[in-house]
Amino acid sequence: MTEQPARRLLLVHAHPDDESINNGATMARYAAEGARVTLVTCTLGERGEVIPPELRHLTGAGLAQERERELAAAMERLGVEDFGFLGGRGRYQDSGMMGTADNDNPHCFWRADVDEAARHLVEVILEVRPQVLVTYDDHGGYGHPDHIQAHRVAMRAVELAAETGWTIEKVYWNRVPRAVGEQAFARLHDDLPGLPFTKAAVLDDVPGVVDDLRITTEIDGTAYAAAKSAAMAAHATQIDVSGAYFALSNELAQPLFTTEYYQLVRGEHGENKETDLFSGIEGTS
Ligand SMILES: [Zn+2]
Repeated sequence: MTEQPARRLLLVHAHPDDESINNGATMARYAAEGARVTLVTCTLGERGEVIPPELRHLTGAGLAQERERELAAAMERLGVEDFGFLGGRGRYQDSGMMGTADNDNPHCFWRADVDEAARHLVEVILEVRPQVLVTYDDHGGYGHPDHIQAHRVAMRAVELAAETGWTIEKVYWNRVPRAVGEQAFARLHDDLPGLPFTKAAVLDDVPGVVDDLRITTEIDGTAYAAAKSAAMAAHATQIDVSGAYFALSNELAQPLFTTEYYQLVRGEHGENKETDLFSGIEGTS
């Protein structure tokens, strides 16, 4: 077996771009610090709406290819080398937004058997042996079927891996503290006239917003803000970045958070307010 870095972080996401939006600074930080950072993306995101007019002809397989290229570029900007698709490229198709006909496609991720999908993730877990896993809450952060399914598959894989010989010590869900979100949106309203976006999103559009008390962990990504922003910009079909803000295909401006927040849902708190996902894990400091 090849020598592994002492700290190993696994992130499970639904589509290419979710990793950079949610965890770009965290991924860049741990990669820069020499940890093994592994990203598993569950679908190619081929049902995503495309922002740039010159790329709007891309759909289905063509969009999948483009988003795969975007993901590779984003990972280069974050310094992350270890990334792949759950069960191999194209194993699970993008389910589209909740309530659309795409949800009925038998090959879409939403229709996947959770245990079978989790077993693909267990293969990765047994190879990487991560101490820390990051994914979404049980609502998928904001209710997208692929995000809910990514949550289910990740949480099930944690259980299956433990039965098979590798216990992931800490599991985190992506979060945004409500007070931080409110402040950021207040700033956004002040800045909006100078931005290339005409309207602002609302805090309820942001995935994973919870009461501040539920936040266990805060990763200050100031040093990696440029890397995160560049990684998000690499997902050009999906994200329009402008300074401290960005918009998705709905063209509604929202804050780009360079400090990233988490809720520890499995494992022991390393300290009262953690500033390191690995805190308290033996042999990783
Ligand atoms: Zn997504």
